[in-house]
Amino acid sequence: MAQRAESMTLRTDFSLLIDGKLEQSELALDVINPAFGEVFARCPAANRSHLDRAVKAARAAFGAWRNKSFAERAALVKKSSEVLRAHQAELAELLTREQGKPLSQAAAEIDRGTAQSDGMVGIEIPTEVLVDDKQSHIELRYRPLGVIGIITPWNAPISLALGPLVSALYTGNTVVLKPSPYTPLTTLKVAELLKDVFPPGVMNVIAGGDQLGAWMTEHADIDKISFTGSVATGKKVLVSAAATMKRVTLELGGNDPAIILDDVDPKAIAKKVFFASFVNSGQVCMAIKRIYAHESIYDELCTALVAEAKKTKIGNGLEPSTDLGPLQNKMQYDKVVALIDETKKTGAKFLTGGEIPQGPGYFLPPTLVTDIDESSRLVQEEQFGPIVPIMKFSDVEDAIRRANDTRYGLSGSVWAKDTQRGAEIAARLEVGTAWVNQHRATSAFVPFGGAKESGLGRAYSSLGLKSYMEPEVVSVAKQ
Ligand code: NAD
Repeated sequence: MAQRAESMTLRTDFSLLIDGKLEQSELALDVINPAFGEVFARCPAANRSHLDRAVKAARAAFGAWRNKSFAERAALVKKSSEVLRAHQAELAELLTREQGKPLSQAAAEIDRGTAQSDGMVGIEIPTEVLVDDKQSHIELRYRPLGVIGIITPWNAPISLALGPLVSALYTGNTVVLKPSPYTPLTTLKVAELLKDVFPPGVMNVIAGGDQLGAWMTEHADIDKISFTGSVATGKKVLVSAAATMKRVTLELGGNDPAIILDDVDPKAIAKKVFFASFVNSGQVCMAIKRIYAHESIYDELCTALVAEAKKTKIGNGLEPSTDLGPLQNKMQYDKVVALIDETKKTGAKFLTGGEIPQGPGYFLPPTLVTDIDESSRLVQEEQFGPIVPIMKFSDVEDAIRRANDTRYGLSGSVWAKDTQRGAEIAARLEVGTAWVNQHRATSAFVPFGGAKESGLGRAYSSLGLKSYMEPEVVSVAKQ
């Protein structure tokens, strides 16, 4: 599908960042370009001793870093955003090669990450005076936790690294960050670019496999784990963190419903609903993963979504005309192909897609499915790929019940002309974020995170920032 027009030379210009120094390792990770299914780069992988040295460096740097003011730390974060913006083009190209997403979306990811970073460092975390009377003065203060371990997934490696990284650094913590073994490269380049922005040891970045993540969660000198990834791994992280009572933020998977009410014009919303379902080939935690449409607009909505699917160009993300790239890795591709096969066997109707293109590359077309049993795996589980079921309802109470009938609770949306009615229904979704007439809208100032099994804690906003700090009461009896 994708034409090879790239050099076959293996890229190896990557390093770990430990204590302000770039390091190599005797271990390596091969990184595949998913548009071709071939190794295009190799980077060093950390062993246990790299991790121990990174944690030691982070601990040693903590004292001086926490003593800086919020304003001083904010200034360095803003400088780091400037550096990343200045290198946006080269970072975006590398991100497309390792992750697969179209270049414009890779560039947008870097823009989003830096904009959110700049936004977060504008949030103040003041000491709160709880009581001040004749007898006592009681304050609630927030102090940094110490060393934060950050573990990230492969679907949006940069924005999902910058969020926790900046939250941790701005609040006075130091960091050891591990990207996914599928997409370590751009994160390592970010570390290299920021090497001299932050003092040595404040930000350490080590690539490695799942075992390295497990070592981080059990490490006695890491105070908190910020984990973004699947529900299954999130549960392992929570169990492992319990042994040392580490704080955790878990940003996990979703099975987001979109409820489309009877008063909308399907043609007017189809583009937005399609994009929110299929961007990054559906590999987005908060993508729309189930569509519930009112029977009166159902057929028209299906027709409009099929029209969007037919306009979509699939290909190598480096080609400017590409709308959707490949699935990011073979494991996920095989999972989605199996789900397509299984869904076919249930007798569901495929409005688009269903065929598996010949390789090379992990490409699958946007696939829309109707007439599907609610108990089928495509409806019940997180597909994390470009296949979405469209289901019909006649009674909105029934749609809300079906939308909530899941162990996931990341986000969801309601689409309505009457926005007040839409908001009332949205408030009944059992999720961390319920949108009306939009989906996937996030900001530095708005908390994001999952209800139910979709996570623990919130990212962004003062709520998210405070989760990188220990609340401490200072209670003074006045003489
Ligand atoms: P994953 O859970 O397989 O891996 C995530 C990270 O955890 C990787 O860095 C991996 O090496 C590491 N890891 C694996 N086993 C570990 C262990 N035992 N201990 C510690 N770390 C371990 O997830 P993935 O496949 O990379 O990412 C896709 C999933 O992430 C999807 O479910 C998606 O919905 C979810 N996600 C959630 C959010 C959110 O904000 N809620 C954002 C993006 C992705």
